[in-house]
Amino acid sequence: MLNLIIFGPQGAGKGTQAQLLAKEFNLEWIETGRLLREKAGDRTKLGEKIGRLQNQGVLVPDEIVAQIIEEKIKKVPKNKGIILDGYPRNIRQLESLEKILRETNRAKYKAIFVNVSKEVTLERLSGRKTCSKCGKIFSKTDLEVCDACGGKLIVREDDRPEAIEKRLEVYHKETEPMLRFYRKKGVLVEVNGEGPVEEVYRDIIKNLK
Ligand code: AMP
Repeated sequence: MLNLIIFGPQGAGKGTQAQLLAKEFNLEWIETGRLLREKAGDRTKLGEKIGRLQNQGVLVPDEIVAQIIEEKIKKVPKNKGIILDGYPRNIRQLESLEKILRETNRAKYKAIFVNVSKEVTLERLSGRKTCSKCGKIFSKTDLEVCDACGGKLIVREDDRPEAIEKRLEVYHKETEPMLRFYRKKGVLVEVNGEGPVEEVYRDIIKNLK
């Protein structure tokens, strides 16, 4: 069974690659940002708290995310692989995940790091729009409505320039130490995410073999 973790800076295209990999290998795609946004839509105290933090571009507390991720993984059929997108994002989350993966018999995994420079991140994220209905992402578009479902396109609160800077700062401080851990463990697959989607994808597949 194939279990994957995919990580990298915002705008590296990890969501796009995760979607392709999930389709190719029949994996359950666990998209953390989206899972949390769904929770934020609940009219509960927890939902409100998550929504507020997401809009500021800061991380949701580790315990909350760990619990949501664990619940989600436990719902996946035992013989189906998973691809984790957006989790873990720091060393503490990584440690929680190690435990969750052991307990759910998914201790064998690969961690894919999709790397892009800060300039590319900023370029790709500014002007990004998201469909308010189905979540489809559009980079640099003049469209006002989604070409897939007709939903209204919006600029996500955390895709505004101030929030992007903040998210990148958080990324560098918290996500990079994970690289060292996975490299040392011998499960790291590192690819350059600056080329076209198909090229990055081919590179990942080549390295997974
Ligand atoms: P994303 O869509 O992956 O860029 O995530 C959007 C927002 O969701 C982040 O800025 C955080 O507020 C929250 N979030 C996503 N993943 C995590 C995580 N692993 N831990 C904590 N917060 C997260």
